[in-house]
Amino acid sequence: MKLDILAIAAHPDDVELACAGTLMVHAAQGMKVGVLDLTRGELGTRGSAEIREVEAATSAKVMGLAVRDNLGLADGFFRNERPEQMLLIAAIRKYRPGIVLANAFVDRHPDHGRAAQLISDCCFLSGLRKIETLDEDGKPQEAWRPPQVFHFLQDSFTHPDFVVDISEVIERKKEAIKCFKTQFLAPAADNEPKTYISSPAFFESVISRDQTMGKMVGVAYAEGFTTVKMLGVKSFKDLIGNVT
Ligand SMILES: [Zn+2]
Repeated sequence: MKLDILAIAAHPDDVELACAGTLMVHAAQGMKVGVLDLTRGELGTRGSAEIREVEAATSAKVMGLAVRDNLGLADGFFRNERPEQMLLIAAIRKYRPGIVLANAFVDRHPDHGRAAQLISDCCFLSGLRKIETLDEDGKPQEAWRPPQVFHFLQDSFTHPDFVVDISEVIERKKEAIKCFKTQFLAPAADNEPKTYISSPAFFESVISRDQTMGKMVGVAYAEGFTTVKMLGVKSFKDLIGNVT
């Protein structure tokens, strides 16, 4: 299955917090959009890998994804080394995405930065035909280099290189985040330990960040991205705001 956009992230729920709106906006435009979670989030303080799998599948429906896959790497311990790279290269070649959305290079959780570099490196390596990988039927895969790789903002604030207007889908983004019932907006009375991300204040901070980025470009809500490669536009008309 060829995807127009594939978001790749360290943990199930990274995508919901950082770029769910962008995925939904493009899915609504008819693009084929998918998510590849690198780990099952099995080290998360609250919930379990099994529960998070159900939460991720529920959220995938809310986001209108064509596919949500999991690479099964070790939460907290995966490395940017050959065994992990070969698995990820095979996944990139399977979905042949035009655009890859990836974790932030610098962030609070050390998995995020490692994932960012792993994804960035594999998007390049995947284009080298002499790296041989096999598909699920044992057939050799063709090389594929995604033309664009963008990194979404996560917990740490980085000045984005561009933002995507998600005003139309902000309520559905909230719904997608809330699918992770074990992780966010924890009821005060539940038995599990409270964490940095389980408080209402954390949830509000995610939405108010989107509001701040929206305000910077004159829309209600937006999600921010950085890019290593320089971006070009065919027309200034593609920019938000009155330019002519
Ligand atoms: Zn994460």
